[in-house]
Amino acid sequence: MDKLLNDIHQSLGISEIHLSANKLKFQSQPDLYSLEVVDIDFEGKPFILQVSAAAAWRAMKNAAQSDRVHLLPFSGFRSYIHQKNLIERHLKNGRLIEDILTHIAIPGFSEHHSGLAVDIHANGKSVLEEQFEKTQEFLWLKENASRFEFQLSYPRDNEKGIIYEPWHWYYKGR
Ligand SMILES: [Zn+2]
Repeated sequence: MDKLLNDIHQSLGISEIHLSANKLKFQSQPDLYSLEVVDIDFEGKPFILQVSAAAAWRAMKNAAQSDRVHLLPFSGFRSYIHQKNLIERHLKNGRLIEDILTHIAIPGFSEHHSGLAVDIHANGKSVLEEQFEKTQEFLWLKENASRFEFQLSYPRDNEKGIIYEPWHWYYKGR
């Protein structure tokens, strides 16, 4: 692993123990030219994906739209340093690193680093909440996402040590 990641892990108190318990795959950051700004999310942030995933996302979003389901993106590509900042925010709020790592991947291991993962929300409701599974957006995804090569990465009781994330979809069609 590169020096940047080692430094990030050290500064967050992530040790060999955490790394050896980690069941997620290493994710490298793509070259910048393979990324594309796809949209602006509801917080006004750019929503970025790899070009291949961006095309699949648009096709899926359009198909949903014709079924009157509006898929809205939240997070796409996220850098190692952004991931570090997310974890730091929770540490500052007094949470334990072990606890944080059940819902935020160790920097270097988030699918968001690849630019192939997207967090989806339902018009600002149930953003990054388990309740998202009750929305028509989720029901549509469950039925249709595989046609566009998107899959749910963290189903209920998954073996990756990550909580159930009905909002998080990964493009595997690359
Ligand atoms: Zn996610």
